[in-house]
Amino acid sequence: MIYLDNNATTPLAPEVVASMTPYLTNEYFNPSSAYEASRGPAHAIRAAREQVARFLGGVRPDEIIFTGCATESNNASIFGVLRANAERRHIITTAVEHPSVLEVCKEAQREGCEVSFIGVNHKGELDMDAFVKALRPDTLLVSIMHANNETGVIFPIADIARVVKETNPDIIFHTDATQSAGKLPLDLTGALSDIDLLSFSGHKLHGPKGVGALFVRRGTRIRPFMCGGHQEGGRRAGTENVGHIVALAEACVLAEASMAGETSVAAMRDRLETVLCEKIPWLEVNGAGVERLPNTLNLACHCIEGESILYQLDAAGICASSGSACTSGSLEPSHVLKAMQIPFTAMHGSIRFSLSRYTTTEEVDAVISVFPDIVDRLRRISPYWDHDRSAPRGT
Ligand code: PMP
Repeated sequence: MIYLDNNATTPLAPEVVASMTPYLTNEYFNPSSAYEASRGPAHAIRAAREQVARFLGGVRPDEIIFTGCATESNNASIFGVLRANAERRHIITTAVEHPSVLEVCKEAQREGCEVSFIGVNHKGELDMDAFVKALRPDTLLVSIMHANNETGVIFPIADIARVVKETNPDIIFHTDATQSAGKLPLDLTGALSDIDLLSFSGHKLHGPKGVGALFVRRGTRIRPFMCGGHQEGGRRAGTENVGHIVALAEACVLAEASMAGETSVAAMRDRLETVLCEKIPWLEVNGAGVERLPNTLNLACHCIEGESILYQLDAAGICASSGSACTSGSLEPSHVLKAMQIPFTAMHGSIRFSLSRYTTTEEVDAVISVFPDIVDRLRRISPYWDHDRSAPRGT
């Protein structure tokens, strides 16, 4: 099997499995208990918090809260800020966020907040003019993702956060860094020092599912999302998931090391992109020409259905995605591609390959050898495709 769906989830790194195993077996003690045996798990959480703090550019360990997933971190950020700052009721976000931000903002709207959803252009770049115009005296929170899960397009969040703080330092800036963590440096004491809240998740960087982290800069006005225990400094109640917390930290340490020496993922992605675009007519890269995550390739294959491509790839033993994993299963085109105003026939034929540090050149070659035939076969039965001219009908 060739797994090229790493933006949906990643395989566990063997070192991560080794790091968490003791806490799933012998060291099962509750880290809050008073006896000697609990010291090991309690110490492991402390060490993990320090490792994650280093991974985020050397922030303070007490600025890290362990959560159950990035969805929780995003919910905790938005609802927590709203609850702590009742006097301001305006949020700015983008039209291309993950549903764990978009839906929370819509829920906030239903509860009486005003939300500005900033659009993007056809390349996926944020409409900065609209964004600056949307900033208001009563703006409480700006939530803008770092990198898009579907296209890999990176938003210049350091610059955006600076604009926010120059306009009004009281506005709280949250970023969903679930797709960038482990792929791009996250320096919250340097380039990203205007960011107050940052979410990410274990399972996107070769850690386990069911654990995430939330960075909360000291002084940020936020109320806890989960109450009922003293854990995480009273900011996220519930007995700690020790093994998964240790595993998340180990995944961060490994990602840091691999980012330092890593060029092969980008090189493989670039080769996949270049060769497929050479071999296949009317193939476009969604997000072309803008800065993108090094592992992500979102292709628009005009005149065919993404779902059909997926089935054919699956039959060839290749796992990919059409739109985000959360929305596949429905034939509704992705809200991200809709926001980019990708033409109708291209939007429906979009497919995402996402690589990881475990992807091999041989796997990329295998995709290169089967993908053009899949597209060709599907176009032969497409009512929109003129096979004699190798172009969409009517163009
Ligand atoms: N944000 C983004 C950008 C994502 O890609 C995802 C996962 N698809 C999430 C949030 C949610 O992450 P989790 O599965 O850890 O809740």
